[in-house]
Amino acid sequence: MPEDLPNSYMTGPDEAGRFGIFGGRFVSETLMPLILELEERYEFAKTDPSFWAEMQDLWTHYVGRPSPLYHAERLTQHLGGAKIYMKRDELNHTGAHKINNVLGQIILARRMGKTRIIAETGAGQHGVATATVCAKFGLKCVVYMGAHDVERQAPNVFRMKLLGAEVIPVTSGRGTLKDAMNDALRDWVTNVRDTFYCIGTVAGPHPYPAMVRDFQSIIGKEAKAQMQEREGRLPDTIIAAIGGGSNAMGLFFPFLDDPSVNIIGVEAGGKGVDDRMEHCASLTGGRPGVLHGNRTYLLQDADGQILEGYSISAGLDYPGIGPEHSWLHEVGRATYVSITDAEALEAFQLCCQLEGIIPALEPAHALAHVMKIAPALPADHLIVMNMCGRGDKDIFTVARHLGFDMKI
Ligand SMILES: *Cc1c(COP(=O)(O)O)cnc(C)c1O
Repeated sequence: MPEDLPNSYMTGPDEAGRFGIFGGRFVSETLMPLILELEERYEFAKTDPSFWAEMQDLWTHYVGRPSPLYHAERLTQHLGGAKIYMKRDELNHTGAHKINNVLGQIILARRMGKTRIIAETGAGQHGVATATVCAKFGLKCVVYMGAHDVERQAPNVFRMKLLGAEVIPVTSGRGTLKDAMNDALRDWVTNVRDTFYCIGTVAGPHPYPAMVRDFQSIIGKEAKAQMQEREGRLPDTIIAAIGGGSNAMGLFFPFLDDPSVNIIGVEAGGKGVDDRMEHCASLTGGRPGVLHGNRTYLLQDADGQILEGYSISAGLDYPGIGPEHSWLHEVGRATYVSITDAEALEAFQLCCQLEGIIPALEPAHALAHVMKIAPALPADHLIVMNMCGRGDKDIFTVARHLGFDMKI
């Protein structure tokens, strides 16, 4: 390992918001004062016990935390190697980990006196979580969503509307998540006084990547304590799927300074990580560039144009990855691999049949990697995979791929 490595992996980002050469804040002058105000208010909230007490109360009574750490006994038996645990974040209100972060940002927004919340969404999961918490607090909610995604994700568009949110279809660019995020940033600059921008993953300009990570770290904190209680020690391997990287950062962060813990992030390999670019593996198939206010690994062509990427899982098709993951990759603290659509589909079905859990297609990618490595590991090797979302939203996609006619 290089000698200039920090003696802790948990001190970042630095004052400029950088993790090594990644992260930072590449924003226009008009956006800068908003970002600085947010940073100042978050730094204050972070050390305020009443802020965390409010979070804890809502996590317990609204979200349903702590989520269980579940020993997947039949899956363990079936694979015949390592002992497999699932961190059950799919049991949260709204069906995924997204609400952990949304609650944090909206409590902060309320403390800042903001009354209008804006968000970007791709598949619609972050939009639904944001609309949910806005309804709970009586806040105005505006969700930017690529026009293409509005068509593909009708059930989530309807959910957001039921929850009182306004969904704005974005037609700029190619009308997908990347463009929705650009429009949300533009909205923020033009509605400075009353608006708070609630970002859905560990991306965007500093302080978002660190702030979202801090809110999602409840996943890893709980998993660590629960594993102590169950097994009296740390897990040997922890694994999570990566879109932008927030559920993974949430699981990984509390374990970064435990050198015995092997950390693996799983990207969407789509139809295979090669020159056709029909995948979303930003780390394994991309290179560094700047997008949405930070420097990180991105899917791009030879001219630096951002590519859309492709995955069977709509929640994984962000063309970038959180800057902290880029750094963990470069310093070698975490390993990043990719899993194809076909492998994820197989894991999806196995999980249904052996555990009675219909997983979202995103964590099915993490599970597929568990299936690859578990058989060769000893029975006392403890794996924790993050079951970060439930599969109700994905059954139509899976039915289509399996050739099942839903007749609707
Ligand atoms: C949104 C989403 C993801 C991808 O986002 P991350 O920031 O990488 O966690 C993964 N899984 C589920 C279930 C999601 O809803």
